[in-house]
Amino acid sequence: MNNSDLIDNLTHIKNRIAKACETAERKTNEVKLLLATKTVSAENIKILLEAGETIIGENKIQELKDKFSALETIPHQSHFIGHLQSNKIKEVIKYANCIQSIDRISLAEKLQQRLVFENKTIDVFIQINTSYEASKFGIAPEKAVELALQVQQLDKLHIKGLMTIGLFSAETEKVRKCFRLLKNIQQEMLSKNIPVQELSMGMSGDLETAIQEGSTMIRVGTAIFGKRPYPDSYYWNESK
Ligand SMILES: *Cc1c(COP(=O)(O)O)cnc(C)c1O
Repeated sequence: MNNSDLIDNLTHIKNRIAKACETAERKTNEVKLLLATKTVSAENIKILLEAGETIIGENKIQELKDKFSALETIPHQSHFIGHLQSNKIKEVIKYANCIQSIDRISLAEKLQQRLVFENKTIDVFIQINTSYEASKFGIAPEKAVELALQVQQLDKLHIKGLMTIGLFSAETEKVRKCFRLLKNIQQEMLSKNIPVQELSMGMSGDLETAIQEGSTMIRVGTAIFGKRPYPDSYYWNESK
């Protein structure tokens, strides 16, 4: 993909976001765009950061690490959006500003321990498995509030929001159900004073539905960077 294709694709996505916001009677600036950059070269990521984008998300520690120095000089936020193994904690806090995939208390506690040791803090999102698919990570919706309350006790972790991957389905109403569930869990958490302002939901195929249901952060890969070499399950299933 050449530079102008990337910029064209970005423009197209921004138009989709703007249109979806209009339809949902929301302000465009309520919805952030995270570039899902797994398998994308640092060079191509740079083009979009230089065009004014500010948030990238990686799924694997190795990629985060490999691209870090090439992107370091351009101000941006780097989110970790893949499954996180606890043996990668040391590295993730070196390279990412935010971890969107907190899905178990054991992980959060180990993260806290390491952050105490390094005298650092990090932003986190709780990942919730709103589609109930065994292939997807995330805490079960019924257990999410309890997890968030526990995470809130860990002073080095700053809870900012919730993340989910919606059902992959052509049936919009089934996808909508996932997003609506995330929104409902958010409302319940807000009522318990857990500050989960951000709703990270919606990808290339379902961003319009996610925006209608209240998304504040869309994560887009394919629609900007093109198809990836492997099916998504490959990138989700373990953190290399
Ligand atoms: C790859 C990925 C995305 C982007 O998906 P596309 O369908 O390519 O837009 C979003 N979220 C997560 C967690 C991902 O791994």
